[in-house]
Amino acid sequence: MSLLLGFDIGGTKIGIGLGDHTGKLYGTSRRDNRNTDPAEVLPWMANEAKRLVEEAGMKLSDIAAFGISAPFPADAARGIMTKPTNNPKWRNVPILDFMREKLGIPGCFENDANCGALAEWFFGAGKGCRDMIYLTMSTGIGGGIIAAGNLVRGNRALSAGELGHICIQLNGRKCSCGINGCYEAYCGGVALAHRMQEEIADHPESLLNELSENDPAKLDMVLLEKAFRAGDAYAAELWEEMSLRNAQAFGLFINSFNPEKLILGTLAWAIGDIYIDPILKHLDKFCWEAPRHGCEIVCSVLKREISSYAGIAAAMNYLKEQGGNII
Ligand SMILES: [Zn+2]
Repeated sequence: MSLLLGFDIGGTKIGIGLGDHTGKLYGTSRRDNRNTDPAEVLPWMANEAKRLVEEAGMKLSDIAAFGISAPFPADAARGIMTKPTNNPKWRNVPILDFMREKLGIPGCFENDANCGALAEWFFGAGKGCRDMIYLTMSTGIGGGIIAAGNLVRGNRALSAGELGHICIQLNGRKCSCGINGCYEAYCGGVALAHRMQEEIADHPESLLNELSENDPAKLDMVLLEKAFRAGDAYAAELWEEMSLRNAQAFGLFINSFNPEKLILGTLAWAIGDIYIDPILKHLDKFCWEAPRHGCEIVCSVLKREISSYAGIAAAMNYLKEQGGNII
């Protein structure tokens, strides 16, 4: 039996998983990644991976491949983390070469949203699909596209699937990426928090003032959801626009890719029906009937556990793309 090693490099946490092609996990490890130095973290990753392999009673030669799930911006083709937003000391870190050398096994480097899509495809809500789209929906919005049974990466930048950064409003709200009117600027958690901070002074009657103890810095998606559930008018206005914008983006994806499933990440499964139902109410305005009816809109199955599977799924896809035997 061959196993797969997965590394998930997050802005605040690093996870390592050892698992097989069925999704069975043989060992996991986690550590904090806030304000870390890669000179210390990379050797820890290699040593911890070796420890997990030994504890499972295996040797490194029993591991078919490893996969690294990492945030963009990155030089994905060469496996270099160039400038991760949350980790100022990580600059131009050649993480793929480092792990290849230390572990002595084949491996790959993949955008974290693509890894989320691969994890849902192999182990979660997308099992058995030929065409599916996964949307990470939390502080920002990312995406991963599986089309005709393959992960879509695009050309040189390997940046296909950046679904949060499609412009849905001319001269619209400024996005963190620099473009005006991105989908993320209307529906990402951080963007919505900034919007509330800008606008709250115009809504002195809003429950959000009380919930945030009149400190705009405390305004976030959790408080927005609370205020909306309590019937606050300003929260309802924001919720309605968020739902309409989500529907607009979903419609673009459905008409562009005609997926079997659109799989929704964090905000959707954490908030539930009151998040999804208003989107479905608007969706018919933005896509054709046939692809709409052919597309099931579902929540992530892996939910919080997705990070344990992200790197393993990347490794599995790497073997698939090499034409090798996954098992
Ligand atoms: Zn953007």
